[in-house]
Amino acid sequence: MSDQQEKMRQGAEKLLQNEEVGYVIGWGTTRFADRTTPIFIDTPAAASDFVWNEYAVNSLAKYLLDDKYPDKKIGVFVRGCESRALNRMLKDKQVKRENLYLIGTPCDGKKAGRCSLCRERNPLLYDVLLWEPVPNVPAEGRFDRVRAIEAMTPDERYGYWGAVYDKCIRCYACRNACPVCSCRECYVDMSRTGFQGKQHSRSDNQIFGVTRAFHVGDRCIECGECERVCPMDLPIMGQTQKILKDINELAGEYECGLDAESENFLGAFDLDDKDEFM
Ligand code: SF4
Ligand code: SF4
Repeated sequence: MSDQQEKMRQGAEKLLQNEEVGYVIGWGTTRFADRTTPIFIDTPAAASDFVWNEYAVNSLAKYLLDDKYPDKKIGVFVRGCESRALNRMLKDKQVKRENLYLIGTPCDGKKAGRCSLCRERNPLLYDVLLWEPVPNVPAEGRFDRVRAIEAMTPDERYGYWGAVYDKCIRCYACRNACPVCSCRECYVDMSRTGFQGKQHSRSDNQIFGVTRAFHVGDRCIECGECERVCPMDLPIMGQTQKILKDINELAGEYECGLDAESENFLGAFDLDDKDEFM
């Protein structure tokens, strides 16, 4: 057993013994050797179920949205990606910091494609750090895929995204896993939205894709969870990254979730803005 895994188990056990938290969210085994699953542990004895290995890939932050009014603090293991999600969720007032006990676990990368773009392996906020921070690895090619799509002709681009959304089965896993997609009731689950059909067609799938991209685009922390969970392997981060690339070019360096204070670009406004609707 790894030293880090033992520290996680002991840390969670102590928090539960002292009743500092009601439960702790982490990763547990599955029947597949190369998969883990998020687990919720509420007794000290069960803390030994937590695992920390190269397959602990799921982001845990999203689960905090399911328990906004806990009786006791919620303990959760936090890496760089979870902490960036939490910064965004705190800024969006989706969680309260006083309801959380953040157990920092610097991450040396997991077996997931989403980790290839990771620029922050260490938690940016935590209550306790279980081991020393790890060096960040410069992630190259942040917007490479967007540049490749931009280089296409309009017809090629339409064909590209049309082919992507022809395959979408609208399972909404991308929405469900995204830590910054936080509406309690999503418009796609309403039966009478008027402009979004339930049928699977290219146009309705595309409306979902574009709406999702704009709802989260300027708040996207680039964690890659949406693509990781997509059962059709669709390259949908290309949409949110296009929005982020444009913001970077229009307004200077922009990255989400590095702190809990920064405004999101599309949500910020000034009464002196020139737009006539103001
Ligand atoms: S996870 Fe993939 S298949 Fe499911 S709705 Fe999202 S893009 Fe479509
Ligand atoms: S990468 Fe995907 S899952 Fe992660 S914040 Fe952006 S849209 Fe959401």
